[in-house]
Amino acid sequence: MKIVFPQYFAEFHCLADGCPDTCCAGWEVVLDEEAADRYEQLGEEHSRLRERIRQAMGKDGGDLIFRAASDGRCPFLDGSGLCDIQKELGEEGLCRTCHLYPRFIGEYGGVREIGLSLSCPEAARIVLTHKGKVAFLTEDDSSVPPSLNDLDAERYFAVRQLRETALSLAQAAPLPVDERCALLLRLAKKGQKKLHKEKYGEIEGLTARFDPHRMMGELQSCCRKCAGVEPMAYKLLPETLISLSILRPEWKVRLERKVRELEMEPLVRIRPLDAEFETQFLTAFLYRYLLRSAYGGSALGYMKLCINSLLAVRLLGQGCGQEELLTLARLYSREVEHDEENVAQLLDIFETDKRFSAKGMTALLLQDYPQPMGR
Ligand code: SF4
Repeated sequence: MKIVFPQYFAEFHCLADGCPDTCCAGWEVVLDEEAADRYEQLGEEHSRLRERIRQAMGKDGGDLIFRAASDGRCPFLDGSGLCDIQKELGEEGLCRTCHLYPRFIGEYGGVREIGLSLSCPEAARIVLTHKGKVAFLTEDDSSVPPSLNDLDAERYFAVRQLRETALSLAQAAPLPVDERCALLLRLAKKGQKKLHKEKYGEIEGLTARFDPHRMMGELQSCCRKCAGVEPMAYKLLPETLISLSILRPEWKVRLERKVRELEMEPLVRIRPLDAEFETQFLTAFLYRYLLRSAYGGSALGYMKLCINSLLAVRLLGQGCGQEELLTLARLYSREVEHDEENVAQLLDIFETDKRFSAKGMTALLLQDYPQPMGR
């Protein structure tokens, strides 16, 4: 199996009792069967823990879970935020969910992609304060067998090529981030048309149009295409996020406050945040999500998910310093992307709701871009 990972992946070490948050607070931990069997077979020396584990287990739909305690925290968290299971059984004693977190995995047949989730404060710090372009490295690991999948190999390679170009565009400093995003939308829109018609062999020619020598021509085309188009309204973003499943009430309060502010001052100009922060945020989202369209989802939908996530964090992060931005990115990740149903709902909205059209998004992104001659 080939393992793909961002260059900073190995820098992660859990902050344990020094963590300002606790990963499992507020979440139900989904338990794998292997761990459940292991817990059931714990010997007499662990009989108290075995009993606590039995008491905490429950079902959520088809999933076996640890039910959260009445305060919303994992029942195994001690007063200092440490895990009782890990303290007694060591890291090998953890279930797959806890053992893996905050790492995420994407399986693509003979390729496994791994990364760090922004929902953990230490992972967010590593990812979002990384300096310069991120390299994505590959290693062979013969101990991991290829995963079973229903991937169409041709589509997979076509989407991989799209993502490679997208990752280069996302990191194409000194081009302003908004212009990079407009190019990304154009790439995904055109790429999705080819994927839909199964013209996988044409993806290479498409991506060549976005290389550093030719991309300014594409940018001019973006600008011409959205001439006279109503820009997407920033207010749609918090309004949409409120409609998702929400973990903590403070998040809803924050979104509602932003909606009210925008209603009172609809013409307020939303400024880009620190370009390095925005670049790393966008890169992390593209790495995690865009390749998923190899399984048949819309590449344009995933692109909108990445860019609208950036725009939502930009909107909520106006006037914030670096530490507050890291916290905000972590909250966004916890609230939005850690619930696959939320992600699916967003993809559906971006695909079907005309207010999130690629043209409207591009018009918003290129508000400050000089008008091409003869437009
Ligand atoms: S949120 Fe991250 S740093 Fe904090 S306890 Fe969990 S894994 Fe460790």
